[in-house]
Amino acid sequence: MELGENDLFPIDNALEMILVFDRKGVISYANDAAKKKLEYENDLCGRHVKDVFPNTFQATEDGFATEYPFGNEPQNLVAYRKNLTCFPVEAKIVSSVSHAGTYICMANDILEKEFLSREIEQVRQEAQQALKVKSEFVANVTHELRTPVNGILGNVKELLDDVEGMDARTVKSLRLVERCCGDMHKIINNVLDFSKLEAGKFTLEPRRFHFRNMLDYVKAKHISKITEKGLGFFMTVSPQIPEYVIGDELRIGQILDNFLSNALKFTAVGKITLEALRTARVNDKLELFFMVSDSGIGIDKADRDKLFQSFSQVDASISRKFGGTGLGLNICKQLVELMGGRVEVESEKNKGSTFSFSIWVGISEEDSDTPSQQGEMKPTVFTTAAMDEDEERFANIRKYGTAENKENLKKNLSKLILCVEMENWEKAEMFMETIRQLTEEAPQEVKRVVLRLKMAIQKENYDKVTAGYEELNKIL
Ligand code: ADP
Repeated sequence: MELGENDLFPIDNALEMILVFDRKGVISYANDAAKKKLEYENDLCGRHVKDVFPNTFQATEDGFATEYPFGNEPQNLVAYRKNLTCFPVEAKIVSSVSHAGTYICMANDILEKEFLSREIEQVRQEAQQALKVKSEFVANVTHELRTPVNGILGNVKELLDDVEGMDARTVKSLRLVERCCGDMHKIINNVLDFSKLEAGKFTLEPRRFHFRNMLDYVKAKHISKITEKGLGFFMTVSPQIPEYVIGDELRIGQILDNFLSNALKFTAVGKITLEALRTARVNDKLELFFMVSDSGIGIDKADRDKLFQSFSQVDASISRKFGGTGLGLNICKQLVELMGGRVEVESEKNKGSTFSFSIWVGISEEDSDTPSQQGEMKPTVFTTAAMDEDEERFANIRKYGTAENKENLKKNLSKLILCVEMENWEKAEMFMETIRQLTEEAPQEVKRVVLRLKMAIQKENYDKVTAGYEELNKIL
């Protein structure tokens, strides 16, 4: 059976030219691209293949003669149009396995292909240039934005240094301005870092620094909020890490800062832990491993995969409630990779998350035998003031009805009503979420009261909140 004009519909619209000819050299099929490029209408079928490739095929009595090496390797040939003008092509001609005596020719116009690849290269260069211009623009704008924000922040701080004589409302407004400026500052810094990293213009600034002081500084930034939320905080530092290391202190602190902020943001009940270990040494380089764990809302497996993409937040309702730009983790990942390491996340929905990462730091000769080489030492464990209780206590907090659970519920309820009285609904919602989690295992009637209280807070209905508060307080 021979292939004919009507047999090959799926390749009719292919971009490359396709011709089918038989052992006599007669063309039985030509797709649209072949007809168009060779400038035939419907009269290509029935022609001899030598009309298209006269330098490669000659007509003989019983068909054609050729030196073309049929096979899968493309060859450069010259194709002739109907009007006898010609152009170079890259062609592959194979002998059909299923239809003996049938040959299939697939050919691309080389000039067009080169033109296309030049076009693609040009588009690629233009896109790269546009990306560079965009990144530079973002970097400039964010840099310029910093100045006015710093100006406002500085002035507000100065005013807040001397609040005597000011009425309570003014102080409250100034504190709000201070907080907003702080938030804006963080966002600007994130966008600036992100655009620098994207443009490949980011450089680390390694120098010798006191490792534990850096950790203490990071801890100090978060501890009051952690305690305010009633969470536990445990920090463990391996004695194998020397006192001084060489690295970009600011950026290591920034990564830990981001993981701790998220742990704090997404944890209502339980604890946060920070662990630092030394995992390897190669000459004057140490590999350090950090782990930040929380007992918060956790992350679904599906969401974990997109976690480190820029602007990614797990779901819109979460970002509305907790804020954020979705840049933090992407920046952390890029920074960690610049420091020769990688970030990992383990998490279970409603059970908590652990973000871990490794980095390489330097060690100078004078510090290399402190204090790790002095034999086995126990890790240093730091806990916050509110955390002299052991870890078991934190497990009990979640269990409805235990003394720890009751105590925590009462604490959060009184903080909640205080926020409502001060009309700080946003913060009240935070305590409400903690109460909801603490009563997850409670009997149905308690859960109903909690739900009513939650709705009243969302609607900012003062009367209903006080009623709900009293009802819950009575139960407790
Ligand atoms: P953002 O500035 O929005 O916090 P991140 O890049 O730091 O941006 O985090 C991206 C998203 O990852 C968060 O919005 C949140 O959905 C999720 N996430 C990050 N850390 C945690 C965590 N410890 N627990 C639960 N979800 C988290």
